[in-house]
Amino acid sequence: MAIRIIVKDPDPVLREPAKEVTKFNSNLQKLLKDMAETMYDADGVGLAAPQIGISKRVIVVDIGDEESGLIEMVNPVIVEQEGEQLGPEGCLSIPNLNGDVRRADRIVVNGQSADGTPFSVEATGFLARAFQHEVDHLNGILFTDLAESVYDISERQRKGGE
Ligand SMILES: [Zn+2]
Repeated sequence: MAIRIIVKDPDPVLREPAKEVTKFNSNLQKLLKDMAETMYDADGVGLAAPQIGISKRVIVVDIGDEESGLIEMVNPVIVEQEGEQLGPEGCLSIPNLNGDVRRADRIVVNGQSADGTPFSVEATGFLARAFQHEVDHLNGILFTDLAESVYDISERQRKGGE
């Protein structure tokens, strides 16, 4: 495993629609391990492959609650959304900014595991927010595109980087 370098806005890879994964091989498994390690090293709660410069539809999420733990998902697609939440968000690729973003409060996301097995996750609250943030990364969307207000946190402690 290895900690990868997190690319920062305005790196163009963050704006590319990421490619669907079709090969479930050892390279993918290594990518997922590296992404988890990189996320934990940066104190993040989620990471999308474009954030380490790899334009593939792969995400990892761990919001730090024991129930959900680490979720690795390949080719995630949000298939249900309902309700609404407005709350603060940050991003490991935009280190000095947070913003208030309106998101669905409950989602269902379908995807595949590292070996290609389909699975789905139902998420509410902060976990639902993290998934929506990471899936946006796969479509070239950053939270600053959606935020109703953006604030500079360079003088304060960063929180909730994704
Ligand atoms: Zn992010």
